[in-house]
Amino acid sequence: MRDPLTPILPGAVVGVLGSGQLGRMFAIAARQLGYRVHTFSPETDTPTGQVADVEITAPYDDLDAIRDFAQNVHVLTFEFENVPALAVDAAAEFAPVRPSGSVLHIAQHRLREKSFLEGKGFPVAPFRAVNSLDELRAAIEQIGCPAILKTAVSGYDGKGQVKLINPADAEAAFTATGSQETILEAFIDFELEFSIVAARGYDGAFAHWGLIENTHRNHILDLSFAPARVSQSTSIKALEIARNLLETLDVVGVLCIEFFLSRDQRIFINELAPRPHNSGHLTINAALTSQFEQQLRAVCGLPLGATNFLAAAAMTNLLGDLWQGGEPNWAAVAGFPDVKLHLYGKDQVRPGRKMGHLTALAPTANAAVERVLDARKRLTNR
Ligand code: AMP
Repeated sequence: MRDPLTPILPGAVVGVLGSGQLGRMFAIAARQLGYRVHTFSPETDTPTGQVADVEITAPYDDLDAIRDFAQNVHVLTFEFENVPALAVDAAAEFAPVRPSGSVLHIAQHRLREKSFLEGKGFPVAPFRAVNSLDELRAAIEQIGCPAILKTAVSGYDGKGQVKLINPADAEAAFTATGSQETILEAFIDFELEFSIVAARGYDGAFAHWGLIENTHRNHILDLSFAPARVSQSTSIKALEIARNLLETLDVVGVLCIEFFLSRDQRIFINELAPRPHNSGHLTINAALTSQFEQQLRAVCGLPLGATNFLAAAAMTNLLGDLWQGGEPNWAAVAGFPDVKLHLYGKDQVRPGRKMGHLTALAPTANAAVERVLDARKRLTNR
């Protein structure tokens, strides 16, 4: 047990490292509860900065700026896990950082993450560390093909990943990932992908929103819906893993675990995100407490909120590609009374860039999926 904590109450200042859409939705939740929000990142007029009380613009390696930032907040959290460890340590001199820097350290490096998970007995696909072409060839012999070569750092949304169909692909794959520190992972022939967004309070309380099923397009999350189409035994097993993992990592905050369910019904952890996650956005409209309010409650030492769903739900991302033929038809989407529009305030549109999302609520997940995809289609009927 930890020492009892004096909770950080409304009116206090919460600092967010990072300034994207996750920070924005966190800031909206925090302001709703009467907290003040400061955000720190190298950019200006950011999705988070637009709704925060204070936006600080400085590089993450400007440790004086980080210390200054931390001196003006009561607690710090992050929305972007690639904040350098030195910056987190500097911030932690002045304000508690939750989840702690050690959770961040594990999650920001694939090899560290996979080794940690395997070492603690959590189910992951077979993998090998690969630092040279020779090591890659040896790893292919051990793991077999198909396999996926992934860079150890800075990979997200499928960036820094190459699939190897057969051993002859080794050289091209190693060159394509930039000949850097990588890991080779067995390819899981999955039936579906799902995630668990879970929270752990300062007092050790655990909360979750069940299993959320996810589909990707071009390696980017396209659609999430809840509840996922899995058996009760899979659900129980995966939730047990989630509870154990948050406890093992001593998380205070929100952490998302992405899973594969193989065709033979085995579950594997793909990766961790020590923060709210894109697949959890549907909790904003569909659950009593959203993942962002839960992050706030956890990092402020408040009791966790109830995670009951009001209905089944589906969420689809709005990527920059939708802007190709001009401004999307917002009025058409407003014509769906059961669909909620979220836009992140990004003025620079790029294909593949997450600009916003839609969430639909319905009596079943299937019906919610149909509605949300229909609404998205109407956006391009100009
Ligand atoms: P990641 O960036 O690791 O989350 O990977 C992005 C997507 O690539 C995943 O959501 C999967 O659809 C696919 N993928 C990654 N690793 C594997 C694997 N070992 N086996 C099968 N598909 C994978």
